[in-house]
Amino acid sequence: MTLTAEPQVTVATHCPYCALQCGMSLSGTAVAPREFPANGGGLCQKGWTSGSLLTTPARLTTPLVRVEGELVPATWDDALDLIARRITEVQAGHGRDGVAVFGGGGLTNEKSYLLGKFARVALGTSQIDYNGRFCMSSAAAAGNRAFGLDRGLPFPLTDVGDADAVLLVGANPAETMPPFMQHLRKAIDSGGLVVVDPRRTPTAEQARLHLAPAPGTDLALALGILHALVADGLAAMSYVDRRTRGFEAVWQIVARWWPERVERITGVAAADQRRVATLLAKARSAYILTARGTEQHASGSDTVSAWINLALALGLPGRAGSGYGCLTGQGNGQGGREHGQKADQLPGYRKIDDPAAREHVARVWGVDPASLPGPGRSAYELLDALGTESGPKAMLVFGSNVVVSGPRSAHVAERLKSLDLLVVADFVLSETAAMADVVLPVTQWAEESGTMTNLEGRILLRRKAIDAPDGVRTDLEVLNGLAQRLGQPAERFPIDAEIVFTELREASRGGLADYSGVTYGRLHEGEALYWPVTGTGHAGTPRMFLDSFAHADGRARFVPVEHRGPAEPVDDEYPLIATTGRVLQHYQSGAQTRRTDELNALVPEVYVEVHPDTAARSGLAHGDWARVVSRRGETTARVRCVASMRPDTVFLPFHFPGAQRANLLTNPALDPASRMPEFKVCAVRLTTEDGA
Ligand code: SF4
Repeated sequence: MTLTAEPQVTVATHCPYCALQCGMSLSGTAVAPREFPANGGGLCQKGWTSGSLLTTPARLTTPLVRVEGELVPATWDDALDLIARRITEVQAGHGRDGVAVFGGGGLTNEKSYLLGKFARVALGTSQIDYNGRFCMSSAAAAGNRAFGLDRGLPFPLTDVGDADAVLLVGANPAETMPPFMQHLRKAIDSGGLVVVDPRRTPTAEQARLHLAPAPGTDLALALGILHALVADGLAAMSYVDRRTRGFEAVWQIVARWWPERVERITGVAAADQRRVATLLAKARSAYILTARGTEQHASGSDTVSAWINLALALGLPGRAGSGYGCLTGQGNGQGGREHGQKADQLPGYRKIDDPAAREHVARVWGVDPASLPGPGRSAYELLDALGTESGPKAMLVFGSNVVVSGPRSAHVAERLKSLDLLVVADFVLSETAAMADVVLPVTQWAEESGTMTNLEGRILLRRKAIDAPDGVRTDLEVLNGLAQRLGQPAERFPIDAEIVFTELREASRGGLADYSGVTYGRLHEGEALYWPVTGTGHAGTPRMFLDSFAHADGRARFVPVEHRGPAEPVDDEYPLIATTGRVLQHYQSGAQTRRTDELNALVPEVYVEVHPDTAARSGLAHGDWARVVSRRGETTARVRCVASMRPDTVFLPFHFPGAQRANLLTNPALDPASRMPEFKVCAVRLTTEDGA
């Protein structure tokens, strides 16, 4: 008898990592790239190796409960009973807000939605936020101010492929999302790519012009370029008159920021500022795109507003073949902020303090609008309040590793330790899970179906490709199990993703992010649906703002913003600026990519990039271990001497745990509008490992 292997079913799905959401095919755990407009058939190293996550030996398959200091296996019933009992006790003693929920920008839309509903209905707490607050919240705040609506890219990414000029600000897609670079090919080849970044990144290497401002000064740089544009008569004044409001108030500030003055603050030559203004103004098709380098500042929202002001003065937003956009980072950074896991929002991108929004969502949920809590604390404020007299005493974490990714992370760890109950749902024992009282082993990407919304606002179906191991449950099943134990009817918290999505569609109907016309059937058919999709006969909205912006009068707003500089200036004790970021081989806190052997072998440890002269002044050489010390803590990192680094700046990737956490250093000074911490600038000193 001849045995023939069962033919492996190939499933069309999407990468588990970043917001590009590259199309891929899975046959079992074997990954192959798949033609999809955002990635054009390409994958990066993270995508190629993502199949190995499905067989990782680090996989959790049984709930764990802390007994006498140790995490020991437990049954699902025992773990969920324990959580429900402790939640009830905490809320009896400290009120509904005694329990908090922390979500993640990698969760599917269905999970994000049900998590928000679980917090507001089953727990009745206002204390819910998510790690997307640390990602693109400043761009969201600035986009809402300018356009009345925030969608990362309000146009398909492929449109950028036709541009002859692109200004990338604080973005390094050559490392963070390499297939994106194909969309810059024309701009690169025609000499139209300009990159603003304090570091000479692989993306900057491909640019015609690389502007390297001192970290924390790119708001001033935007003012200088805008000044040059207007002073040289290059601004699109007929567009400004027709489609915007507020230019005069902005010009009153910008008039004081002529390029030579900006050069003294940023270090970017006045002539280069003028060259950028001219290049963008003369381009037939141009885009300004921002990312974390612009946003992760205590003045992040204003900094993004400054670049949007420049885009408006160029007449780019809402013009076919041109525009402004934000490159969202996390896989579902876009959808995650639209469906209710943000402290101040309800599904459909509705404001939680809007009576009409509360009425609508409460009706869908079958509850009294008056029973819905109001806005809660933002992510860092929530973490900072844990265990304090007025703060939550228990927290449930889904899809987030805050002890690595949060700013001032030693303090975050202290706050987590002070809780009466910490519950973490994850598929591996992340650093945050290792601190928990209860760990719940949940499914990962290819083991379940669900929708994601990529950086273009396009809704995608991630299809289940393989069965989860025995012992593992979905996040939806976890929420259902807990909700029932807290007295909720089972049907209020469905465990089927498509049923949850059907409810999400109703909850979002009429909101800014209206998904009411999106169905699993349409997604299975491969329809390209960009929100809003206002009915099942509606084709969606690939390009926004072509006729009008989302403000009531249809016009975009210039927002007057002033340069403030970093929250923490350097001084004699801390003379260098540390900035943090990402590397090609790792994703976010590294909880997944550090467990992928191929990736971890390439970048196994944290490093600090430093100019050779700066290293020498600190008694350090390439390859040494160094201590990097800030006012909040210190980390140990391997020295990489990089001649292109600014001598006043060092760089550390933030993907590593324990004593190698870059976020031991970072400053939790918050942006007033977005509550984004200042990840990108903090004052440090560099010493040898023994502190000499
Ligand atoms: Fe594509 Fe991002 Fe996945 Fe890389 S990590 S394959 S760029 S989705």
